[in-house]
Amino acid sequence: MEDCLFCKIAAGEVPSNKLYEDDRLLAFYDIDPQAPVHFLVIPKQHIASAAALTEADAELLGHVFATIASLCAKLGCEGGYRVVTNVGVDGGQSVPHLHFHVLAKRSLAWPPG
Ligand code: 5GP
Ligand code: ZN
Repeated sequence: MEDCLFCKIAAGEVPSNKLYEDDRLLAFYDIDPQAPVHFLVIPKQHIASAAALTEADAELLGHVFATIASLCAKLGCEGGYRVVTNVGVDGGQSVPHLHFHVLAKRSLAWPPG
């Protein structure tokens, strides 16, 4: 999609610090980390947010979460981690391309602010 930052990152048109990539998704480190480990997982196809997901995306989502589990194991996140996807203005979404934040290696407060 034109003028979508994360589509450009997925296409390699905007550089990113990549952690993992395959035909369906890309994991890269957040430019403004909120924890010692903070990376984003995005589908390569443009999906605006979790609000746009359908039953047809079930396999993609399974792949996203299995990849997150594998990456967190590789990064040594034995203490646990948090997966967050922000949706819309009230949800705090600033980039309108579905992405999952993965935060780890610090104690994370709940509920969030
Ligand atoms: P949101 O606020 O939409 O949930 O999360 C967007 C995230 O993307 C933010 O945590 C922000 O730091 C990150 N971000 C924004 N622009 C860039 C960029 O150009 N490169 C990388 N690696 N992260 C970005
Ligand atoms: Zn996009």
